[in-house]
Amino acid sequence: MTLMLDGEPCHCGNRGCWETLVSQGAVIKRARKAIESGASSQVSDLVEHRLERVTVPLIVQAAEEGDPVALQALQETGLYLGIGIANLINAFNPELVVFGGVLSLASPFLLPAIQQAIGSRSLAQSSQTIRVEVSTHGRDACVIGCIALVLHDILSQPTLTLRADAEGRLSSP
Ligand SMILES: [Zn+2]
Repeated sequence: MTLMLDGEPCHCGNRGCWETLVSQGAVIKRARKAIESGASSQVSDLVEHRLERVTVPLIVQAAEEGDPVALQALQETGLYLGIGIANLINAFNPELVVFGGVLSLASPFLLPAIQQAIGSRSLAQSSQTIRVEVSTHGRDACVIGCIALVLHDILSQPTLTLRADAEGRLSSP
């Protein structure tokens, strides 16, 4: 989903994709850019000024202690998350939006901006009924979902035994 006309190049080949604004990398880039521009931040201390070591959990840790750079990076990310979610709400009118992955660690900082963007940018009727929740699986949501898909496939075909060859390719007898 394109959100920025002349935004950052995305690995998919497009520019200004939603992912370029809300991924872990985008959060880290916001914090690093602020620090490189001279802002004082606990994030820099946490990585001993080696900014290539900045991670989302460290930014969340700094935000929990009131670090303005970390709070700003997360608030801006929440805004773009909310704008993208508002677009999806307008297209699909879901009852529930669940977000997981590493960014769910930052949910207390992201949710207010997400709710605000949904309130101002999605259709009134949808924005009043939509629920936005954080996955109970937190940062493991994607891995657990992947495992669930594999298990579902195996269990739905119990007579099929999968085995891997030396190169890791799965085949059936
Ligand atoms: Zn893209």
